[in-house]
Amino acid sequence: MSDVAGNLAHIRNRIAKAARGADRAPDSVTLVAVSKTQPAEAVEAALAAGQRVFGENRVQEAKSKYPALREAWPDLELHLIGPLQTNKAGEAIALFDVVQSVDREKLARALAKEMDKQGRRPACFIQVNTGEEPQKAGVFPQDAEAFVALSRDDLGLPVRGLMCIPPFEEEPAPHFALLRSIAERSGLSLLSMGMSGDFETAIALGATHVRVGTAIFGARLTQPA
Ligand SMILES: *Cc1c(COP(=O)(O)O)cnc(C)c1O
Repeated sequence: MSDVAGNLAHIRNRIAKAARGADRAPDSVTLVAVSKTQPAEAVEAALAAGQRVFGENRVQEAKSKYPALREAWPDLELHLIGPLQTNKAGEAIALFDVVQSVDREKLARALAKEMDKQGRRPACFIQVNTGEEPQKAGVFPQDAEAFVALSRDDLGLPVRGLMCIPPFEEEPAPHFALLRSIAERSGLSLLSMGMSGDFETAIALGATHVRVGTAIFGARLTQPA
């Protein structure tokens, strides 16, 4: 296993430096350690090094790893960062503390219904497909404000921010700036943007949550079935 504690310390330093460079407090940026495909032992190494906020992109995988970890670390916070099927909304509400990938009306309705049923209200981010890529999840930028209003004001979801994954082959900065401007227009204060390769750019443009996987845990060798 790679040096998770050492990598975490290095990433935290880089986050603090990027925040100070943007005249921001280092603690205004939350590091979400993305543990998808990594074994529970890697997550435990991060927990032992003080990390508490984690991201997973699949309900099934999170369900197999996190309930046991939570027993030992009750203050752990788990974010869903991947696409969610409507029929898994109930499991997601039960398991996650934050859902960053709310991206369509049918899902928003299913989440609202499950929150009422379970009496549990994980904070939500609306995922915006800033690059308007057909294969990628997220609402298009021109539809984002209306979708925020629907989710937050009509359905009553606790919408706190926006999330984006810029196109792989493009400069991320314009996408981060676009996400920020949509958040400002929508009255949302949280921005989940930036991954291993571009989190410093994202922080300069206002990211409050950066999602970092490989720079902490090393390469993802396998994708679990
Ligand atoms: C995997 C993943 C990340 C982390 O990517 P790295 O490049 O490994 O840091 C961030 N966000 C989402 C949505 C992901 O699926």
